Amino acid sequence: MDCLFCKIIAGEIPSKKAYEDDDMFAFYDINPQAPVHILVIPKTHIPSVDGLNAENSAVVGKIFAKIPEIAKAAGITNGYRVISNCGDDACQSVKHLHFHILGGAQLSEKMA
Ligand code: AMP
Ligand code: ZN
Repeated sequence: MDCLFCKIIAGEIPSKKAYEDDDMFAFYDINPQAPVHILVIPKTHIPSVDGLNAENSAVVGKIFAKIPEIAKAAGITNGYRVISNCGDDACQSVKHLHFHILGGAQLSEKMA
């Protein structure tokens, strides 16, 4: 499958890993929008939040259960934002479900 993030999981495209287990892979965003900017992705290819359903969504709970540990290990100490862009109006550019962790500085009050 021609998916950038599936290729990152497979190691075919290099990335700076932040965390990995059987279910998920976390790596530093190549174009950081905060001092700490990490992407957390399921190892299974799910296109976006809009592709979630009762059969495939258990991994989302696993990802959110791990995000606090990933954020702290990356040095975030004073809060962070978790974002998932879904679809064209949200400017989703990579069609593999991912959660942005943004932190390390005071973020904008604006979310859109
Ligand atoms: P989104 O716009 O929500 O789909 O987020 C996709 C993110 O992937 C953007 O923040 C990009 O900077 C990031 N990105 C694209 N290619 C790479 C890559 N090769 N390594 C790390 N992050 C990437
Ligand atoms: Zn994929």
